[in-house]
Amino acid sequence: MRGLMQNWPMTLDRILVHAASASGSRRIATQRPDGSITASDYASLQKQARAFSAALAGHGIGLGDRVGTLLWNDLPHMTAWYGAMGIGAVVHTLNPRFDAARLAWLINHAGDRLLVIDAQFADTLRQVADRLPTVEHIVIANGGGAALPIGSIAASSLEDFLGAGGPATAAWGGFDEETAAGLCYTSGTTGDPKGVLYSHRSNFLHALCSNQPNGFAIAATDVVLPIVPMFHANAWGWSFIAPMAGAGLVLPGPRLDGASLQRLIEIEDVTFAAAVPTVWQDLLRHVHESGASLGRLARVLVGGAAVPPEMVRAFRDDLGIEVMHGWGMTELSPLGAISSVMPDEATLNGEQIVARKARQGRTLFPVEGRIVGADGKDCPHDDASPGSLQVRGPAVVRRYYGAQEDAVALDGWFDTGDIAVIDGHGFIKLVDRAKDVVKSGGEWISSVELENHAMGCVGVRRAAVIAVPDARWGERPLLIVECDEGETPSDQVIREYLRPLVPRYWLPERIVFAAIPLGPTGKIDKLVLRRLFAQPLPV
Ligand code: ADP
Repeated sequence: MRGLMQNWPMTLDRILVHAASASGSRRIATQRPDGSITASDYASLQKQARAFSAALAGHGIGLGDRVGTLLWNDLPHMTAWYGAMGIGAVVHTLNPRFDAARLAWLINHAGDRLLVIDAQFADTLRQVADRLPTVEHIVIANGGGAALPIGSIAASSLEDFLGAGGPATAAWGGFDEETAAGLCYTSGTTGDPKGVLYSHRSNFLHALCSNQPNGFAIAATDVVLPIVPMFHANAWGWSFIAPMAGAGLVLPGPRLDGASLQRLIEIEDVTFAAAVPTVWQDLLRHVHESGASLGRLARVLVGGAAVPPEMVRAFRDDLGIEVMHGWGMTELSPLGAISSVMPDEATLNGEQIVARKARQGRTLFPVEGRIVGADGKDCPHDDASPGSLQVRGPAVVRRYYGAQEDAVALDGWFDTGDIAVIDGHGFIKLVDRAKDVVKSGGEWISSVELENHAMGCVGVRRAAVIAVPDARWGERPLLIVECDEGETPSDQVIREYLRPLVPRYWLPERIVFAAIPLGPTGKIDKLVLRRLFAQPLPV
């Protein structure tokens, strides 16, 4: 027997329609690159996003078409986001820190038909414009005035593009909730980036569930500042959660330094903000040095990398701000677990609470999690038996975009590549990482790709990259090079060789020259290299 309730597809357009109706005048503030602030609200955003949809439709963009965005967290990005998703087009977020060649690879892999970019990146795209066969039009935001073509690709300013939509309208929703909504690439262990293709349903459920009382617990009284970028796993869901809750929204644009964020938090009465540890470290340093106030800031979400216990103490003891520690992955939409309040919290002393907050927390419903040992069996929750952390759920990836095979085992479990222990309260603690990547300031660096590039440098026989702990960035790449006989390329020569090939933040500060050990199957033995070299870089 089937239930007799309404068939109401969980599509993301409904979130903004709801916000515009229930919380239409709730403020959306955007910090512009010059530090000035522009204001909007959910009702106006809906209007603009609908105009964007109409303009997209006017260009023949509709269901399933990919729209790439190369933008910071700002109002144009929100406009393009809902404008595209509302008509079933797929928002493909691009990381502005990438170089032109990498952006071209991603745009081509996704098959983007239209791009929405910040004027700041027009020159970068110009370098590869003749290598983007699928791109028919580029919309340039934050530029002012009329836009010139980029290479041979027609371009218009966001204002002209919206105007061109004219009185026409494009209907929102009306498609299946499994329709693709967003595409976000994550750096893989095996070279090429992998695309995670979110559906309306997965994002909708992720937003609802992340905002449970045991999760983010955002209310209409909150003012939320997503510092984590929209190109990084949907800004951890904030572009959906804030309007869903009718919370005020503050978009920081490109200025993410400690002083700019402090000012924004104070001026805009921010109560909740989310970012990776490196950003928080900068903000804490600024606040400690300047004595400036963080106004009404009550809670911060720290994720993407482990929270150092000192950060929990600094926020709590010096500023009276609660740290929430989240663990997640792009493949999980991204939230997997969160260190939130427990019934026994009142019985714990300050240091015990810090220790618990420094753990990655408990899986948040409906995420299912388990740790599996080398024998394929579930590990006991004894805090002492490490295993592969695996997850399942309605907002967990099944297959990467364009892949021929599923990314999950037959029973549906997705192996995260993280190694963890779980204690008797169900609190996860990551103890290692099986995947061969470096995470610097919350962003991935592919060791395989860096190694392959380094091998192209004259005189380099073998190259290996390992992550070394770093006080500011969490991790930095260390490049180990074994030279060809009789060759001695200097570290400067290798770095200059790499410079045009990789994003700036990938360049290793330190290169060591050593014989590279191989394991029994002829592969580089990174375990040995880690043992030998994975010391923190000297400050
Ligand atoms: P995000 O950075 O948004 O969590 P990514 O897909 O870029 O998503 O990275 C996911 C990986 O980052 C995880 O598999 C894990 O290795 C690492 N990571 C994420 N959150 C944490 C955390 N709280 N503590 C330690 N490592 C984390």
